[in-house]
This record gives sequence, C-alpha cells and structure tokens, in this order.
Amino acid sequence: MLQPVELSLEDMGDLAGIIPAKDPVVKAHYAPIPRFGEETRQSIIPVCEPTLAGNELAYVQQAVETNWISSAGSFIRDFEKQFAGACGVRYGIACANGTVALHLALATLGLQPGDEVIIPTFTMIATINAVTYCGATPVLADNEPHYWQMDPADVAAKITPRTKAIVPVHIYGHPVDMDPLLELGRQHGIAIIEDAAESHGAEYKGRRTGGLGDAATFSFYGNKILTTGEGGMVTTDNEEIARLAWNLRDHAFSSERHFWHKYVGFNYRMTNLQAAVGLGQVEQLEKFVAMRRANAAYYSELLADVPGITTPPEAPWAKNVYWMYGILVDEAAYGMNRDSLRVALAEKGIETRTFFIPMHCQPVYWQQFKGQRFPVAEALCRDGFYLPSATSLTRQQIERVAEVIRVVSQ
Ligand SMILES: *Cc1c(COP(=O)(O)O)cnc(C)c1O
Repeated sequence: MLQPVELSLEDMGDLAGIIPAKDPVVKAHYAPIPRFGEETRQSIIPVCEPTLAGNELAYVQQAVETNWISSAGSFIRDFEKQFAGACGVRYGIACANGTVALHLALATLGLQPGDEVIIPTFTMIATINAVTYCGATPVLADNEPHYWQMDPADVAAKITPRTKAIVPVHIYGHPVDMDPLLELGRQHGIAIIEDAAESHGAEYKGRRTGGLGDAATFSFYGNKILTTGEGGMVTTDNEEIARLAWNLRDHAFSSERHFWHKYVGFNYRMTNLQAAVGLGQVEQLEKFVAMRRANAAYYSELLADVPGITTPPEAPWAKNVYWMYGILVDEAAYGMNRDSLRVALAEKGIETRTFFIPMHCQPVYWQQFKGQRFPVAEALCRDGFYLPSATSLTRQQIERVAEVIRVVSQ
C-alpha cells in the first residue's frame, strides 16, 4: 500500500515558522435588524464562487437536447477556438482539468528521466506533480519580491545542460516578467510552458497570458476566473504541439488504422457538457476581467492607509486580473499576525485562504529539496493570505471585509 510521507514541524527547523495555522471556522454572522429587534443570519462571504450569468444553461440544454454529451460534440471545438482566440493563439486543446493540461503540454516535449524542468517553489502542487508524472526532475526557483512572481534571475542561475523546460506560473492573476525567460529559452533551446491556471485574461506588455511561450495551460476549476466545473486547456500557436496534444489527449489513436497506437497516450478529454458551460463563460471574459479589476481597485482604495497591510501589486507592464486578491500582513506594523487576522475575519463570516505553502516545504517533496532556501517564497507563505475574490462580489461585501481589517487590530 502507498504510504504517506510524514513531516513534523519539529523536523522543519526554522521553516516551521512559516507554516500557517489550520483554517479558522467561518462563523455565520448574526446582526440585529433594527426594525424588528431580532437577530437574523447574515450570509458568509465565500473566498470564491463561480459567476454563471450568461448562456451557460442554454448551451448545456442544447447539448442534452441534441444528445451530444460526451467528448465529440461541437461545443468542444467552439470553446477551444474562442478561448484560444482570447489568448491570441490559433490552437486550444480542451482537457479534463488544469493538472492534466500541464501533464499533456509537458508530455509533448518528450521529457526523459534526468531532464530538468524549472518551476517556481511558490505555486500550487499541480505544477510540480505534472513534472514528476513525466519522470523529469523539478528544479525550484524563488520569486521576486515586487510582484510576487517567479524571479527570472534565479531561473537563469538554475539552468544546466539538462534543463528542457521552464514553467512560469502567473500567480494570483499577475503575469510573470516573461521577456527574460523567453530570451533564456531562445539562448539555450529551452521550451517555455506557461502555467496560466490563475490568469485568464491577464496581460504582459499588452499580450495575453496563454500566448506568450511555446504553449500554456489553463484550469477551469470552480474557483478559477472562468469555470467549467472541472476542466482545462492547452493553448499554443505551435501547430506541431497542438496536433500532438490533441492526439495524446485521446489515447493517441493513430490515423493509419483504428486501435493502433504509437505513443503512450491518455484519456484527458473534456465533455461537451463542460465545453457548453465553458463557451458561455468565455463569452463573458472581458466583463469578468473588468469586474475583478474594479473589485480589486475598491479593496485597495479602502485598505491603502492601513499600516502593515500590503495590497496586491501591479507592474507597469502588467494587467493583473486578481484571480485572488492577496494581501501581506506585517505583524509589527499591523499589530496582529496573519493567522490572528484570519480568525477575526472568520468570526465575522468572512472566508479567507492562506497563500501557497512552497514546494520545498511539502512533506512529499521535503527530501528532494532539503537544505535549499527561497526567502521570498517563504516570506509570502508566512505573511500572505487572500480575501473573498469572486467576480460577483458586491461593493457592500468589499466594504464589510475592509472594515474588519481596518478596525480589528486597533
Ligand atoms: C488550479 C491550478 C492548477 C490545477 O488546476 P486543476 O484544474 O485544479 O487541476 C494548476 N496550477 C495552478 C497554478 C493552479 O492554480
């Protein structure tokens, strides 16, 4: 039987100090209605929820009524085309989720054991797992402190003759500084695969994420900016990568004859039902991006003068889509640490989530990276968390959240 890898905080040395406390219980908040003098239950503000405001239901109904519910229906092609177009590339390969989209994109590179793939340590576990699934060796880079993204200088320092790919992750909706990475890719013949799971609609120097490297991958999980429930996509302008990805996605059936396979393929297909939702979603991308940017601007306005709170940055060359509105808490200046502030928010019915725990601190990868340190990623993990960030957030909800942060440490 598979055994879990245990790692106790005692074994982590000073790294134990960055590991967040357990999530606090979010309490339904009771407030009196003045006129009746009785208590009423106020709704919890969730950290995230989908916005299904367009043609999603109509398209799903059409899929059911026409009997096309599996993975060969026309919504798949329509969704792939429209989403790829929104990224400024020609090809989209829809898949079951964002994790397998990453695996699929990396698989097209033909990685071999011993090949190295550079990823940020500050990311979600799927990025590193996809490298592991390929039998390749993940190599970790730190983030830069200005925009909380993968640091191109550290990536450059980690390149070896075995480096085959770099996977920049556009964390929380802000793009990575791509030009230095693309230059490294050209110099050394290294593929650049963006993990754009958190950055639908984000821009780097006026160009959309998802169209900046050799290929990119997206997630359409329920908490992402566009959702299909579960879903993912590989986007690329490279016809060879696209053809291979479509083929590997579908068991690598060969065109010569049926049931004839020249690769170890996968079943990573998306269903027409999910694609129907996805098409309804992608039609609203520009609107969602505008709403998220307006929400973030309002949060930042209300939190601007709170000592010890850092609001999310935006580089002059970037369009941040604020997948999650993250803040940093400086305990000394704010008068309370991150975990205590989260408890205070939870008491008021406000759900939050801590920043990622870096990959070199994960029990399952601890031995692999033991002794390596990444100061920026570690500080982000120690001080960062995100506030409710749904597209559908109202101004009143944002005010309620900001008010707690403004007064609770006084
Ligand atoms: C969500 C996410 C994924 C994985 O997507 P799933 O659809 O949940 O498999 C991968 N990378 C990053 C950075 C993510 O945020």
